[in-house]
Amino acid sequence: MSWNQPLCDNCWNAEQPNRKPFRLIAPDPEQCSNCGESTTSGIWVRLDPKSCKFPHKDRERADDDYLDSILPEHDGTDPDADDNMDEEDKGRTYE
Ligand SMILES: [Zn+2]
Repeated sequence: MSWNQPLCDNCWNAEQPNRKPFRLIAPDPEQCSNCGESTTSGIWVRLDPKSCKFPHKDRERADDDYLDSILPEHDGTDPDADDNMDEEDKGRTYE
């Protein structure tokens, strides 16, 4: 089950009145994971699907990969932060 869930404008504003949502540029209509309304807000959030009233089901398309690339990490835990710098390039002293 996907941890990326769509949210309509109303539900975003109700839950995050002081934050700007991450929006898709060309969103498809989705069912809001909170109220069940159809929405083209393009807002996706990381949510536990078990906590959603209308959890979004995974699609055939690789949307999750795209969403993972634009959405911020889930608050708090970030176990595999991508910080493996290129060690090889640093130690290269020969021509
Ligand atoms: Zn909603």
